Formats: sequence, structure tokens, C-alpha cells
Amino acid sequence: MKIIIHGGFFSESSTDIQTKTAKQEALKAIVKQSYDYLKTHTATETVVYAVSLLEDDVLFNAGTGSQIQCDGQIRMSAALMDGTTQKMSGVINIQDVKNPIQVAEKLLPYDDRVLGGNGATGFARKNGFETFSTETPERRAEFVKKLAATGTGTVGCVALDSGGKIAVATSTGGKGFEMVGRISDSATVAGNYANAHCGVSCTGVGEDIVSNATAAKIVTRVTDGMPVATAFEKTFAELKPYDGFAGAIAIDAAGNMYHQDSHPSMVFASFDGMDIEVFG
Ligand code: ASP
Repeated sequence: MKIIIHGGFFSESSTDIQTKTAKQEALKAIVKQSYDYLKTHTATETVVYAVSLLEDDVLFNAGTGSQIQCDGQIRMSAALMDGTTQKMSGVINIQDVKNPIQVAEKLLPYDDRVLGGNGATGFARKNGFETFSTETPERRAEFVKKLAATGTGTVGCVALDSGGKIAVATSTGGKGFEMVGRISDSATVAGNYANAHCGVSCTGVGEDIVSNATAAKIVTRVTDGMPVATAFEKTFAELKPYDGFAGAIAIDAAGNMYHQDSHPSMVFASFDGMDIEVFG
């Protein structure tokens, strides 16, 4: 069993050291709690559990504490992928739900598995997800001061369960100040992808991640026999010509955990049952 989670990018210039330490402490506690959960649950159930905890923590830009868009509203995106069935489900630009990743989970058995905008929010209401404001005073103050993209990151989790199954989940409040209708990478195969060989969750500038097809590309390369480290190196080298801004975490079927970022520094934590590692 292995688990790795991320809390997006930490911006040295705009985030104070207390916030960085608080994020690292939060990641440490959540990775440990999620590993305990993984002992009795599948990888798919566990990534939803871990991402829900991250969404509920106001330090991260997903669920409660999400960034505010240019019209003053919050729209969130989240996706889940079961590497065994290769089914992906997601919500794009959903509003006023506490845990977008749980709405994505609810969609997993459906034929129509990725819903956007009012359709996503309507589906949530029909399925008992109550109206919940994910705005915090901190994000509103940043919005008023026009402090976009302060590095309060997207969240993600990859897990490998005791049955050798891989799953991935990613959730975001977006870039901040984006145009209404803008689509993040987080609920696309560029930002969140898994199969039986590997699972990858990304953070960074969604447009750069989509241009690079980052998660899908890394997973495909590992599937074709490339070691996970080489797959990351090659994929991140392909971001360089346009200075693409991205970070990613992964676990492969052999239990290798990996991370890379194009620009420092992404915060993430991993746990294999013995050692908790916290980076960023
Ligand atoms: N990838 C997210 C987006 O572009 C933002 C982030 O990862 O912080 O919406």
C-alpha cells in the first residue's frame, strides 16, 4: 500500500513561512489519516477520502478556500479515475458544494460521467449535496486586493491499495481571477489520469498542463515500459519550450512514488506505512 498527496504550488514570494509550515503539517496529518483509511478501503475510495480532507482544509485552493473568479464567484473542478476500470468521472465549474470530489464520485457509475456548470451543480442538488459556500474571508480579501494566484494550491492524491489497484483524484478552485467559463486541467486527462500501470495528479497552470497532456503522457510512457522517473523527465522536458508551469505526483504498479515540478515548489507528502515524507 502506498499513498501520495499534493497541495499545489507554494509561492515563496507571496506566501508567508507560517502558511508553508502549516500546509506541510496539514499534508502530514492527512497523508497519515488517509493511509489508515486505505488499510480497509479501495484505492478509489481512499483518493476520494483524502481529497475530501484536503478540500475541507482552508489552506488549500479546493473546496473550502477556493479561489474567486473574475466575476466574484467561485467555480470548482474535480475528477476521479479508477485505474482498474479506467473510468474517469468529474465536475467542471461546479458551484456551492462542500466537496466537488464527492460529486465526481457519485457520477462514476453513470454513462455520462463528466458534467459542467449548471448541469454539475444541478446533479449535485438532485443527489442531496446541500448548498454550501466555499468562500473564506481570506480568499475574498485577496480578491478585493486583486492578488491573483497566490500559490494556494490545487490538491490531489494517488493511492495503490492492498489489491494492487491504483486510483487518482484531483480537485481545484482554479487559477483565480479567471474568465467565466474557463476550464481547468484538473477534470481532464491532462491533469488527472490512471490505468493499471500508473496514476498521476497534476497542479500548475491548467493551460500549460493541457498543452503538454502531462498526466496522460506520463501514464502512457510508463504503460509502454518506461521507468516512472524517465517518463517524468521526458514529459517535463517537453514543457520547457514554452516554459510550461506544472507539477505532478505519481505511483506506479510496483509501488514507486514520484514527483517533479517545473518551477519550485510544489508541496506534497507521501507515506508507505513506515516513513512520512513531506516536501516543498
Ligand atoms: N491547475 C489548476 C488550474 O489551472 C490550478 C492549480 O493547480 O493551482 O485550474
